[in-house]
Amino acid sequence: MTELNIGLILPDVLGTYGDDGNALVLRQRARMRGISAEIQTVKLNEPVPSSLDVYCIGGGEDTAQILAAEHLIKDQGLVRAARAGRPILAICAGLQILGDSFRAGGRVVDGVGLIDATTVSLDTRAIGESQSVPTGAGITAELTEPLSGFENHMGSTLLGGDAQPLGKVTRGMGNCDTYNAADIAGDYKQKDAEGAVQGSVIATYMHGPVLARNPQLADLLLAQAMGIKLAELEPLEIESVARLRKERVK
Ligand code: GLN
Repeated sequence: MTELNIGLILPDVLGTYGDDGNALVLRQRARMRGISAEIQTVKLNEPVPSSLDVYCIGGGEDTAQILAAEHLIKDQGLVRAARAGRPILAICAGLQILGDSFRAGGRVVDGVGLIDATTVSLDTRAIGESQSVPTGAGITAELTEPLSGFENHMGSTLLGGDAQPLGKVTRGMGNCDTYNAADIAGDYKQKDAEGAVQGSVIATYMHGPVLARNPQLADLLLAQAMGIKLAELEPLEIESVARLRKERVK
């Protein structure tokens, strides 16, 4: 019997820069610990099962992400999964569409509403290496290692009161919030914000794939999928992953 069912959600429209690899990393890290794991791929216009153990959603182009948002809103399976507390990882366009609204194709598009956030357009593309220090917000409380990835987006994501940043930017642009700290007296959470955490959703602009570059984040998601603490998961030493981190994390 498969112990862990990993959902790879809409890879036909969302999955740029190898984001599908996040599901592969989860499966591999589970199997290396002797936990049987399978990836269940859900394509556009197929129903999203709400009973999977963990969900991965990747980034994508503007037109593709509009299709994805429309499907997820109509289907509601992912929303039910989130309400049931099932962990969801969303990357870039995935982050944008899980918010309340985003700009794409020259218009404002409704998001799925799992993250209290809206995404507006940037004048200049945010592209390059990205690094942050985890905030430890909500379900990411056990994260301690710096987060590293690659970003490429035209969106600036402004978080509302119910969402917290995943990290504080130390390199790159992150959510690109355009707020001046003085305009948001008392609320500095927007400043240098990267990604979002709300309920069981963890979202980031980081490609990489992010779980290949950040094994601690991968294990946090695995632990949550299994209903245990990160600290309870048997440590895994993978030499090539350690080398990758040494190369990328400054
Ligand atoms: N289309 C979105 C943007 O440009 C998301 C891009 C992505 O997922 N890499 O902001």
